Amino acid sequence: MGIEILQTTPLPPAVEEILQRDYQVHRLWQAPDRGALLGEVAGRVRGLVTSGSVGADRSLIEALPKLEIISSFGVGYDPIDIDCAKERGVIVTNTPDVLTDDVADIAMVLLLSVMRRIPQGDQFVRQGLWARGKFPLTDKMGGKVMGIVGLGRIGQAIARRAEPFGIEIRYFGPRRKDSVPYRYYDNLVAMAKDVDILMIACPGGKETAGIVNAAVIEALGPKGYIVNIARGSVVDEPAMVKALVEKKIAGAGLDVFANEPHVPQELLTLDNVALAPHVGSATHETRRAMGELVLKNLAAHFAGQPVLTRVV
Ligand code: NAP
Repeated sequence: MGIEILQTTPLPPAVEEILQRDYQVHRLWQAPDRGALLGEVAGRVRGLVTSGSVGADRSLIEALPKLEIISSFGVGYDPIDIDCAKERGVIVTNTPDVLTDDVADIAMVLLLSVMRRIPQGDQFVRQGLWARGKFPLTDKMGGKVMGIVGLGRIGQAIARRAEPFGIEIRYFGPRRKDSVPYRYYDNLVAMAKDVDILMIACPGGKETAGIVNAAVIEALGPKGYIVNIARGSVVDEPAMVKALVEKKIAGAGLDVFANEPHVPQELLTLDNVALAPHVGSATHETRRAMGELVLKNLAAHFAGQPVLTRVV
């Protein structure tokens, strides 16, 4: 019998193939009775393969007494109970770097989309409205000031893309970074007051839950834009929706939402938003690279080598 792995969510086909070839895989999401599957295999499972959206909660981790490693597909690991993994001495790995460029691309596309009203212009053409009049003017992206919430790998890749557009970068986070020339804020309301664009690129989880709150949104003001490619949990979503409805901010470009795949009804009717279905890393190339990293981390661990991208 090979090494037994519990998998919580589907992965790209090429990755599934190798996983099936190299391990004895139990597919939790397909089990007609999750409890029954766990009852049968939990005592033998040494690896858990999950994703940054499905994660692994305390009850799942504690149900697997032989668990050695959680190899997660995605860089964000907020739905994995890291404290529990630490207590149990379980290694957790994620897939950083390989997705950075794609997510930063989507951030810039959402920004341009909402500022230049690209989805609305597309509808305007499709619906034959162009023949009846001109599309309204929009806001120029160049010359604006962008405040990045979380200047990590993705935040810095966004900054590198935004600068050639003539955007000035500032940032907020837990620490000042000596390696970058941008102005640092240790107060999010203060930064929101000073910028035109609030670009959210920090991790999700309890430490950042709701940090973009009503006060931050108010400080951003009626000419301000929010772009969120991080996690829906970082923003007080009802406060943001209210501000968008009441035009207390100019617009929002959103790839992530508080309760995916459910999106607040009001957002669907607004013309000052650009919406995407959490597709930051969703390209063939990047999803394959993420899957390969999931496999490499598992293979390294079970070969007695250090894993490549360890979270804890
Ligand atoms: P990263 O390199 O770890 O960067 C995270 C940054 O956030 C770091 O600079 C960190 O500061 C900062 N940070 C930590 N706590 C913060 C707080 N309380 N307030 C403000 N900033 C804080 O991670 P990454 O690879 O750039 O990924 C960032 C996040 O993007 C992920 O966690 C994930 O949730 C999200 N993401 C979304 C998609 C998508 O499809 N939309 C895809 C991939 C990732 P320090 O540097 O000082 O520690």
